[in-house]
Amino acid sequence: MTDVLLDTPRAPDRIDAGTGGCASGATLREAAAAAGKAGVLERYAADYPQGPHDQPQSMCPAFGSLRVGLRMRRTATILSGSACCVYGLTFTSHFYGAKRSVGYVPFSSETLVTGKLFEDIRDAVHEIADPANYDTIVVTNLCVPTASGVPLQLLPKEINGVRIIGIDVPGFGIPTHAEAKDVLAGAMLAYARREAETGPVAPMPGRNADRPTITLLGEMFPVDPIGIGQMLDPMGLAAGPVVPTREWRELYAALDCAAVAAIHPFYTASVREFQAAGRSVLPSAPVGADGTAAWLKAVGEACGVSADRIAEAQNRFVPAIRGALAANPIKGRVTLSGYEGSELLVARLLVESGADVPYVGTACPRTPWSDPDREWLEARGVHVQYRASLEQDIAAVDDFEPDLAIGTTPVVQHAKSRSIPGLYFTNLISARPLMGPAGAGSLGPVVGGALANKDRFLRMSEFFEGVGQGPNTGVWEKEPVDRPQFKARYAAKRIAMAKAEEAVGS
Ligand code: SF4
Repeated sequence: MTDVLLDTPRAPDRIDAGTGGCASGATLREAAAAAGKAGVLERYAADYPQGPHDQPQSMCPAFGSLRVGLRMRRTATILSGSACCVYGLTFTSHFYGAKRSVGYVPFSSETLVTGKLFEDIRDAVHEIADPANYDTIVVTNLCVPTASGVPLQLLPKEINGVRIIGIDVPGFGIPTHAEAKDVLAGAMLAYARREAETGPVAPMPGRNADRPTITLLGEMFPVDPIGIGQMLDPMGLAAGPVVPTREWRELYAALDCAAVAAIHPFYTASVREFQAAGRSVLPSAPVGADGTAAWLKAVGEACGVSADRIAEAQNRFVPAIRGALAANPIKGRVTLSGYEGSELLVARLLVESGADVPYVGTACPRTPWSDPDREWLEARGVHVQYRASLEQDIAAVDDFEPDLAIGTTPVVQHAKSRSIPGLYFTNLISARPLMGPAGAGSLGPVVGGALANKDRFLRMSEFFEGVGQGPNTGVWEKEPVDRPQFKARYAAKRIAMAKAEEAVGS
């Protein structure tokens, strides 16, 4: 009987394949290459080039692909990884409202090194592959099973009509959770493309097949695809599905499009599938007045729309966007950083709203799909940092001393510790409309409210002045004394041990 658990991870007895998880990228990468995953890692290295750091600086990357799977109807998700990783991933999934079970196949040192883990995964997949419940089962190797070479590619491609997709999503090969979304979206598109090439596929219910559609690549606020559809309407076009999709049949409709809009620019594997299907892929997004005018023109031209109809769409929406921007001005200096992939788009909106934006950092890599946004921002003096590290984002706050820092949790914490108001990018900025007229008016109130908090931060800093920093933070009966000599002693011991190990190894 296969040991399939739902959300009840069990600690493995001992893990032999590599040891320290997130912090031991190089060790695990070497182990994975030696265990037969060299090809997968090479493809990931090309698709998702590493930045100044070789380890994720945000949440576990596998959260991205896990979330994509959990959001799809009739899709089962099974994780194969260390219990601590699975615990964290399931916790985070439920924190973000997944309301779905996550399957887990636990392992021990023995099942990992003898190949029994793969047998257990295969049995688990057979056990739940019921077409009454599922269209698809996604199995994900986390760091340790990837490093051990657990061969998910040997799983059957289909059982009882249920599609089986196995992916490796190690933190030492995928730098951000954004790019992990692409790993699963790309694998699903590849599967769906093969199905469509070999025979008729199920139509998407309720799909309006009268008009050519534009597939939208990248998760966005639910109102944005509706707004994009309205902007495409005067050109005789319609908005197609958003990829990652919410159900399998949408994948066929996504592939069956007139063109693909790479709204988020990091979906490299997905773009490869669309291009293999003969679809052209367009960069940037309809954000702000300039961005929307340029995007409508690019989409119209790619779809053979006449210049008159393109102008009609532009004339209907661009003045409305200018009006919304003017009605919601943003005054102040803002630094911006995040790992969602929409950072450059948000920066464009801020600049068009009147903000002084000296720096935008994104944890995502540079691709052709954000080139127009980068060029537009750089022409206005904005420093664009791809694969930005936490250190670079924090240095930008220190160097530019903004009136507001929009960023990840540690960046916002740093800003607030300096009495600079901060806004979390993920929760407060990327969770609102950005496209077209709705997006143009959405940032002003929230950013304006945060900018107005400067005095409150100054008062708080004054109030908490002297409560301590670093090891002295908090309320103490006796003020703690830092002991730098202990740290120095242990550091010297660690260095001596490392040298001794090196001497033995050489
Ligand atoms: S699976 Fe995620 S949490 Fe676990 S070691 Fe890898 S990167 Fe870290």
